[in-house]
Amino acid sequence: MNRNLLFSKTRRQLAIWFVSVMAIILIVCEFSLDRALSQAYKATLDRELTSVANTLHNGFVTILDRPGTLESNVSNLLPDICPYSDDCYESDNSSLMPVEAIYKIEYYVSLLSSEGNPVAIAGKRIKSLPLTPTKSEWLELLDDDGFPYRQTTLTLHTKDNLVWGYLQVGRSLEEVKKYTSTMRRVLIVGFPFILSLIAVGAWWLVGKVMQPIYRSYRQIQQFTADAAHELRTPLAAIRATVESSLMKPRLTDANARNTLQTVSRQNQRLSQIVSDLMILSRLDRQLSGVKSSNEIESVILNDLVSDIAEEFAALAISANLQLKQQINTSQNLTVKGNSEQLYRLVSNLVINAIKYTPSSGEITIILESEHNEAVIRVRDTGIGIAPPEQKKIFDRFYRVNSDRSRQTGGSGLGLAISKAIALAHNGSIEVQSEINRGSSFIIRLPKYH
Ligand code: ADP
Repeated sequence: MNRNLLFSKTRRQLAIWFVSVMAIILIVCEFSLDRALSQAYKATLDRELTSVANTLHNGFVTILDRPGTLESNVSNLLPDICPYSDDCYESDNSSLMPVEAIYKIEYYVSLLSSEGNPVAIAGKRIKSLPLTPTKSEWLELLDDDGFPYRQTTLTLHTKDNLVWGYLQVGRSLEEVKKYTSTMRRVLIVGFPFILSLIAVGAWWLVGKVMQPIYRSYRQIQQFTADAAHELRTPLAAIRATVESSLMKPRLTDANARNTLQTVSRQNQRLSQIVSDLMILSRLDRQLSGVKSSNEIESVILNDLVSDIAEEFAALAISANLQLKQQINTSQNLTVKGNSEQLYRLVSNLVINAIKYTPSSGEITIILESEHNEAVIRVRDTGIGIAPPEQKKIFDRFYRVNSDRSRQTGGSGLGLAISKAIALAHNGSIEVQSEINRGSSFIIRLPKYH
């Protein structure tokens, strides 16, 4: 297939299209995955922040008495709490904080009065982070170095449920940034790797899908070449005969008659090939689902076999052969189909049997029923077919020995037509043969009740 320019180009183009579509899908998936994972990670951090802020709030509620005033015992809750001043940033005692999560993850805590003025800070001391006297619940902040932070704000209450001020708890988003950038690196590095795998897969897959198309393309090519070859032989014979007659200075009646007889014979051969080709083309259309204009009817195979045996009896006798029929069923076997085509199917086999059986041989047409099928066997005691040829004899224009067959007048289309008719009737045809002992062609057709 790769040596055929049209097919290798089509295969390449299809593979490129496939990879491009997959690349777009992959980019969309990676982008969505990246977004979904970062969102999920952020949501987990927010839950943690909320939980820490609530824990602290619940602790403060049991301690705080007067709005905006820091009680001395708040250090029981946050030992490193520092009333707000620049000195707070000198030392960092976050490891003393009792809320385990705080010292593990390095949260910072700010207490603001209800007017928004800083009262105290605890936890991680980040001087470069702006104090935000804002009451909005969630904020994302940047310190002076551009590092991102996430912060939540809760309203803080006293023991008597008066508004004390605000509690702000925050943490660095550096970890999220690191996580997302690692994930992006993995996705970016993985992208060409996955894409190369897809490209290899696409090349293989497209090749596999194109195999049957390529096979039928080759068959059509072969068929066209064979048909041209078959038509050329009689045409060349006609031309040679006519030219040799024209070259004669005087044409006698006998010469003219001879020439015309040759032309007529070759013309008959041409007409036979053309009509066989037309039958095959009609059967091909029938097989590909195009409805036949011919009537579908119930065909009684008992009658069909008897008619054929009767019709070819004279031909068999002239070839010194015995033609017998053997109907192994007491009832009529009926199939649904086209009677003309079915007649052609069986008669092709009988004609072949007569052609390829030496004188004083025997030909038997057997009709029997097997399960849901009607079976017709055409058995002869002829020259037989070698096993490697048995697979090929149903191919169009195939002849076991072309010279020998041409002497018998065959064009190699008879069995191809029989097979096409059997298939068009949802049946099958097969051969069993032994060289010099004879052949048996078996047709199976679904019975019609
Ligand atoms: P042809 O018109 O040449 O007979 P067919 O398609 O009918 O073409 O048959 C294909 C080939 O199969 C023939 O060339 C012949 O060699 C072989 N063949 C068919 N039927 C028989 C048979 N009954 N015995 C031996 N050879 C056969």
